[in-house]
Amino acid sequence: MVGPNMKKLELKEINYMRKLAGMQKIKIKKRECLSCGKMFKSYDVGHRICDKCRPTWQTIANH
Ligand SMILES: [Zn+2]
Repeated sequence: MVGPNMKKLELKEINYMRKLAGMQKIKIKKRECLSCGKMFKSYDVGHRICDKCRPTWQTIANH
């Protein structure tokens, strides 16, 4: 089932797995997009481009 809370649930699960593995939690932070310069929700330090500038990446993630 895919709903509006999907991302939150996924992040919770990911963070739980990361905790078990002794890794740092993923924190959602507002960052400036490297491509368009707009603020967007970033899931980690390597996530620097907003979803609008990366449509293919999001399509892959949703499959
Ligand atoms: Zn952008």
